[in-house]
Amino acid sequence: MLKHDFFPKAIPSRPTGHYAHIILLRETESYALFQTDGELNTARVPAGAKRDDSIITRITMFKRKQTTPERLVGRELLRRYGLLAAEREQATADAPFCDYNVEFCKQCPDCIAYGFAIGDAGSEKSKVYSDTAYSLTAFEYSHETFTLNAPYESGTMSRQGDVTSRINEQDHVRPQVIFPAVITTRDLTFPMFKYVLNNVLRTRRYGAQTTRTGTMTNHLIGIALTDGEIFSNLYFTQRLYDVLREQEVDLSEPVNVHNALTVATNLVPALLAEDQVAVSQWLSGDELSQFLEETFTANESAVQALLREAHSDSKQYAVSYVLKGQKGKS
Ligand SMILES: [Zn+2]
Repeated sequence: MLKHDFFPKAIPSRPTGHYAHIILLRETESYALFQTDGELNTARVPAGAKRDDSIITRITMFKRKQTTPERLVGRELLRRYGLLAAEREQATADAPFCDYNVEFCKQCPDCIAYGFAIGDAGSEKSKVYSDTAYSLTAFEYSHETFTLNAPYESGTMSRQGDVTSRINEQDHVRPQVIFPAVITTRDLTFPMFKYVLNNVLRTRRYGAQTTRTGTMTNHLIGIALTDGEIFSNLYFTQRLYDVLREQEVDLSEPVNVHNALTVATNLVPALLAEDQVAVSQWLSGDELSQFLEETFTANESAVQALLREAHSDSKQYAVSYVLKGQKGKS
């Protein structure tokens, strides 16, 4: 089981070096769009870290494309279970009103874990770190260009000699593209860590969305408790790529996620050892499954209890360090 006593009993006001890393493979399960200005985001990087240093283009998934949907899932749950008010008029001391990027409440588990910035009205640093994620396989094998037609009423592309100009080309990420990722929480209490992990496990839609695209599954590899920061998403991706090449896996075809998970589970302890951080625990395999089963029981009272505990810890932190200075000012 995950060592509860590793986590601080209360969120400290200054960094105390309690790092919990959630290590996962994100996998697209339908066509997804991670774009700015109408184009898929990509980067030119070495294919591997050791064996293959040829340069390839990878699809990138920026930090906000990962954290925003996860935050919104958590915030929806807080409203569902009465810990955030759905409307401003319904706000109470125990269920404040919190409007994402517009009016942060500065005390709910989301505001305290992921941070906020509201101009002159204050800011809170994020205690959840993530970084750009890179596709395991190259752009050329990981995307598809769709021509999106908008036909006339008759279903044809021309009418009385005029051809419709309503044709759009758009690159999509293919299904079954893998994005290795590390999410790091710093100095969160155990309930607050579980809040963040729950968001990661539940979030299914990423990127620019319609109702039927952008589905992803987050496959958890393990949780590492350490006294410092560890390897980056890019390095993890490159090392995983190296091992798969070594095993002669065809990386121009969709990679079997179960195979990638097995390889990654064996690889992570070696990467952690290279990082020279003290590892209090590396939880994976059957022990991890058991921990997840016991912690994230799919019934309403268990979910509510998990959120209540996180809310109590974030509120305590807010009262001690965030809301205090504010009252003095006004
Ligand atoms: Zn809030």
